[in-house]
Order: sequence, then structure tokens, then C-alpha cells
Amino acid sequence: MRPTGNVDPAELAKFSQLAHRWWDQEGEFRPLHQINPLRLDWIDGLVPLKGLQVVDIGCGGGILTDAMARKGAQVLGVDLASKSLRVAQLHALEAQTPRVQYREIGAEALAAELPGHFDVVTCMEMLEHVPDPESVVRACAALVKPGGWVFFSTINRNPKSFLYAIVGAEYVLNLLPRGTHAYKKLIRPAELAGFARSNGLELRHARGMGYNPLNRRYALTRDTSVNYLLATQKAP
Ligand code: SAH
Repeated sequence: MRPTGNVDPAELAKFSQLAHRWWDQEGEFRPLHQINPLRLDWIDGLVPLKGLQVVDIGCGGGILTDAMARKGAQVLGVDLASKSLRVAQLHALEAQTPRVQYREIGAEALAAELPGHFDVVTCMEMLEHVPDPESVVRACAALVKPGGWVFFSTINRNPKSFLYAIVGAEYVLNLLPRGTHAYKKLIRPAELAGFARSNGLELRHARGMGYNPLNRRYALTRDTSVNYLLATQKAP
């Protein structure tokens, strides 16, 4: 079935084609594997995940979903690419990950079904792949309980991010497949914080994610000019 609504089928096809590679630590998704401990520890440091209800929007192969479940949260991962979800499910089965479930459903449809159900919502590296990112932010805000937290990550839009995240990552260093990111779909932190605020989420923390090509390592920084994460909270 062809997905309809706030989805770009070409984007889903890109990820589906690579679905079998999700858990290859040295493959196309290596950057996600490398940043995973950083984003996981940042989230868990702000909101200890043990015992919480969490939903991961645009979960892909479940790299973060799985890790949050291993921290003790009850986690639902959702995406619209069925192949990726099958890979995520298979991984959970093989790795015997407890407390994790996956479903093929869009953020907006899930928000209509389970409003105010989750303590934490994560939506990482996904907003820059959808036609209407604000609609996803609104759905995330609807999914979280009052006082709960919503975490976003995406890529800033400016000449430096074009140079680093597209030219550098896709064409020079070959960290990501070419065509992974389209410049005009990148989102400035102020735009994302604006979407959040308009939908009842207050910005609490922001971090940048930097890559050092010399030691091939990522680190959390204060520089949000390229990759960045936002922590937002719904009023109690
Ligand atoms: N959040 C994961 C995967 C990021 S890759 C991580 O950070 O590890 C982007 C993911 O967004 C892909 O799995 C893709 O299938 C998904 N995606 C793209 N458009 C979507 C949409 N409209 N609804 C749900 N998921 C979508």
C-alpha cells in the first residue's frame, strides 16, 4: 500500500532500499550508530528513562528505540517504511531486547489514537524527510503527557551546514549516501523551536553534534550550526 498523508514516498524508498543495512555498524547508518550513545545519554541524563512510556517517531531500524528499551523504558517505535520496521523487529528478536514494540503508523495517526499517552517522545533525524515537519511536531506534542518531554534532532540550514552536512558528509567524506539530505528541507533551530512553542512545547535545552574527521568521532557541543538536538517540555 502506498502511504498517504504527511509523507514523501521517495524518502521512504531511500530508507527502504537500505533497510537490510540498519544494524551494520560500519555501513550507511554508521553515523547513527556513532551518535547513538551520545543522544541516548543526553536524553537519559535529562529524563531518566527507566520505567517510562516512550514513543520513537521515525524509528527506522530501531537504533535509538532499542537502546532506550535497554535503559528500562517501555518503547514503541513507529515508522512508515515497512522494511525498516521488519528489520527493527528482527533485531529485537535476535538481541532479545525487552520492552520494545514496533508499528507501521504515522505520527499524526498515532496522536489521534493515543493522545497524552507518553512520558517521552523522540523524533530524531526525521523531520528533514517529511513534507510538513510542523505537523509532525504537533503530533509529538499531542502524544506526550502534560509535563512530559519531546526530543528532536535534525540539521540546521545555513551555508556552513550545506558545506558540512551535505557536501562534506555525502560527497567528500562519504559518511552518508549521496542524496540523503536536501538543503531546502533542513530546519533552523529557531524554526523548530517556533513549531514546538506554537504547539505547547517549551524549549529547555539545545546541543550541537560535531564530527571530527581526524579521529572519526562525534561529540555533543554547544555549537548548533550543523547537526543539533532540542529538548522540549509540555507544560505540566
Ligand atoms: N530516527 C532514527 C532513523 C532516522 S532516518 C534514528 O535516528 O536512528 C529517518 C527515518 O524517518 C527513516 O526510517 C524513514 O523511514 C522515516 N520517515 C521518513 N518519513 C516519514 C514519515 N512521514 N513518517 C514516519 N517516518 C518517516
